[in-house]
Amino acid sequence: MDAQEYRVRGKEMVDYIADYLEQIRDRRVFPDKKPGYLHDLIPASAPVEGETWPDIFGDIEKVIMPGVTHWQSPHMHAYFPALTSYPSMLGEMLSNAINCVGFTWASSPACTELEMIVMNWLGKMVGLPEEFLHRKGGSGGGVIQTTASESTLISLLAGRWRAIKKHKESHPDAENGEINGKLVAYCSDQAHSSVEKAALIGLVHIRYVECDENLSMRGPDLLQAIKKDRELGFVPFWVCATLGTTGACSFDALDEIAQVCADEFLWLHVDAAYAGSAFICPEYRVWLKGIERVDSIAFNPSKWLMVHFDCTAMWVKNSLALHEAFNVEPVYLQHEYSGLFYPKCNDNESNKENSLSGLAIDYMHWQIPLSKRFRALKLWFVIRNYGITGLQKHIREGVRLAQTFEAMVQSDPRFEIPAKRHLGLVVFRLIGDNIITETLWKRINSRGNIHCVPAILKGKYVIRFTVTSPRTTLGDIVKDWKEIKAVANDVLQELNP
Ligand code: PLP
Repeated sequence: MDAQEYRVRGKEMVDYIADYLEQIRDRRVFPDKKPGYLHDLIPASAPVEGETWPDIFGDIEKVIMPGVTHWQSPHMHAYFPALTSYPSMLGEMLSNAINCVGFTWASSPACTELEMIVMNWLGKMVGLPEEFLHRKGGSGGGVIQTTASESTLISLLAGRWRAIKKHKESHPDAENGEINGKLVAYCSDQAHSSVEKAALIGLVHIRYVECDENLSMRGPDLLQAIKKDRELGFVPFWVCATLGTTGACSFDALDEIAQVCADEFLWLHVDAAYAGSAFICPEYRVWLKGIERVDSIAFNPSKWLMVHFDCTAMWVKNSLALHEAFNVEPVYLQHEYSGLFYPKCNDNESNKENSLSGLAIDYMHWQIPLSKRFRALKLWFVIRNYGITGLQKHIREGVRLAQTFEAMVQSDPRFEIPAKRHLGLVVFRLIGDNIITETLWKRINSRGNIHCVPAILKGKYVIRFTVTSPRTTLGDIVKDWKEIKAVANDVLQELNP
C-alpha cells in the first residue's frame, strides 16, 4: 500500500469506525460463537502473495465482528468499562504514525516530556498532593504504565527493594534471597487477583485481611495481621489498599491503613483501577483521605476516562525507589543528559539540587520493559478536548444512570442489592439460594442482549451491573431492566414452580 492508497483506505476505515460505534447498539453485545470458530474461517497458513485491501477489509465484517464482544455497547455491563473516544483514537493514530520508542528522554524528548506534563495535569485533576508530581528537585512523579496489574507489581518490587535494604541495616550478613523469603505483603480479601499475581512473581508471602461488613479493609485488622507475622519472624513490607474493588466497588479505609503503614514502615500502594477516574469530581475524594501518606497509587484512565486501552496512570512519591529496583544503564542507552535528569540513587542532597529532575527523566527506570509507546498523546488529546468539566460530566452521568438502575432493582421485591452501590456499579441478586441468581446470570448472558459477570460477596452470589458506555441512555437502562425482569420471571417459574 502506498501513501496514495493509504489516504483513501484510511478515510474508509475512519468512516467504518464511526459507523461501527454510532450503530453499535444494534449489534448483539456478546458473540454467539463457540471456541475455535475462527479456525474455520481463516486459512491455517499465511498468504504467499499479498492480498488486495478490499479483500482484507471485507473480512472485518465477515470473520472478525461476529466474534467480537462489543465493549463499547451501552448493553455491556460486565467487568469495568474500557472506554474510548474519538480524540483518544486520534491520539493513537498519531502515536502509531510516529511510533517512537520512548525509553530515555533522548529516544524521543516529546514522548517523555508530554507524559510528565499530562501526568502532572491528571495528578492535579484527581487532587493528589504535590509530592506525587514532577517538580524540580523533587523525587515524585507520574508515569503511564500498561496496566494496573503492572503498576501493582512495580510498586511491590520497589517496596521489596526498600525493605531488603532496610533489613540489611540491622542484619548486614543476610542474603537478599533469605530476606525475600521472609517478606509479607497484605491486601484485603476483596483485592483484585493481580495483587496475588504480583506476590507470586515477587516470591513473597501474601496475607488477605478479612473485610468488614462494608467490604472494607480496616486499619486495626491489618495491624493485627502484621503483628502476628512479626511474632512469627516474618518481615511485613508492603500493603495494597483498594479504592473501588472489582466485586462491589467497595473502598478500603485508606486513612486508617495509611497510619498503620507509616507506623510500621510498610510501603503503601493504592489500586484505584476503576474508581480513580471518579476522583476528578471533588465529591468523590472523601475516599482519598490519607493519600498524603501513600507511597504509590495507580488508576486506569483506560477504564472510565475514555482514554482507550492501554493507559494506566501511576504516581510515586519517591521515584528513587523505582530507580534502585530497576536501574540498569548500559552504554548504548546513555545520552548527553544521562544522570542529569534524576538524582542518582547514591547522590547527596547537593547533587539532587543540581539535577534537572522535574524537567525530564528517563522513563526506562520507572517501568519493567525498556520501551514505551507514545501513550501520553491520547491522554493529552482527551483532557484537552473534553476539558475537566466535560470529563466530570461524563463520570457523573455514569453514576446517575447506575443510580437509576439501582432504583429499578429496589422497586422489585424479588431482588436485593446486598452491597451498597458505589459509583457506576450495582450488584444485585434474586432473593434466595445462590443457584437462582447463578441461573439468572447464565440465562441473561446466553441471550446476548446484555452482558454481565458475577461475583461472590461474603458467600452471596451476585450479578454485577456496571454502566460502561458514554452512549448509554436512560432508554438503554430501561430496556436492560426489562430484559432482566423477563428472564427472572422464567427462572423463578422454573425453579420455584
Ligand atoms: N485492580 C482492580 C481493582 C481491577 O478492578 C482490575 C480490573 O478490572 C485490575 C486491578 C486489573 O486491571 P488491569 O487489567 O489494568 O491490570
